[in-house]
Amino acid sequence: MTPQGGPVERYARQVVFPGVGEAGQHRLTGSRVTLVGCGALGTVIANVVARAGVGFLRIVDRDYVELSNLQRQVLFDEQDAADGAPKATAAVEKLRRINSDITYEPVVADFGPDNAERLVRDVDLVLDGADNFEVRYVVNDVCVKLGKPWVYAAAIASYGVLMPIIPGQTACLRCALSDPPAAGSVDTCDTAGVLAPSPGIIGNLAAAEGIKLLIGATDQLARGLTWIDCWYNSFNRTPIETPVPDCPTCQQRHFDFLERPASSGGATLCGRDAVQVRPPAPVTLDLAQLAGRLAPVGSVRQGPHLVRLVVPPHELTIFEDGRAIVKGTADVAVARGLYARYIGV
Ligand SMILES: [Zn+2]
Repeated sequence: MTPQGGPVERYARQVVFPGVGEAGQHRLTGSRVTLVGCGALGTVIANVVARAGVGFLRIVDRDYVELSNLQRQVLFDEQDAADGAPKATAAVEKLRRINSDITYEPVVADFGPDNAERLVRDVDLVLDGADNFEVRYVVNDVCVKLGKPWVYAAAIASYGVLMPIIPGQTACLRCALSDPPAAGSVDTCDTAGVLAPSPGIIGNLAAAEGIKLLIGATDQLARGLTWIDCWYNSFNRTPIETPVPDCPTCQQRHFDFLERPASSGGATLCGRDAVQVRPPAPVTLDLAQLAGRLAPVGSVRQGPHLVRLVVPPHELTIFEDGRAIVKGTADVAVARGLYARYIGV
């Protein structure tokens, strides 16, 4: 139920701002957005664009809420952590209480080559709340391929970076960073930690770039790569404005990351002692049946979108799409072994 006053009152302060105005608000209300990743950055971005009044917001996230997220992931609370709720659905439940005029689509899944085109084709803009480079290069490929603007954003420790990208006009991610950094060569939340203002600042700036892109205020874009450190007090912009002439993605149109088959191996998650294992082939699990089958093995809890199995010292959170997050190990082989033993798909 929308409170009295309706959209005119809700967006009054934003409409008075000359950069937006009534025409800008009208464009925002008619706009469609996909947000990839809903952790520290993603919750900040989702909060801003939902309050600003986009028309449709799809939130894609593979993970579930934990207590250690609450220090910075602004849409979640203690109850979400106690429930171990999937982030995509928990975020949408919160956002519905903030702005019920928006059509939301929570997607509890990995964003990857197998679903990227489907999740991006019907939107006007993609916003990056991802926590790893593998996903970002898939986002870059699919956005360049389909001609969708997107905002690259990343934050860790006390610093972060962002860059708005319009395929065919600006540099793309691969123009700026020709290849993803090698695994293990960059800081992660595990090794460097994260101070809440860092994703807060970067997420808000990324959302501002997104709003400019949605209303067509492209003359005001913060073109290039913006770097901010909120602890050591630096603010820099590298002017990578035009595409690199031989960029394999936006100039030669080779979509290597999109064409790469989705990995069926495990991947260590950011920020905890856990490994994600993907099913070897696409599958939709019957969660009730799985919960019944696992009951003799250990302590089992079934939610609407997941089954949690606790077999000390491990905890397996199994999603409908066949993924499992195995907590209590950072060893991919151990995680795969537990997956094969208990889920076996
Ligand atoms: Zn490029």
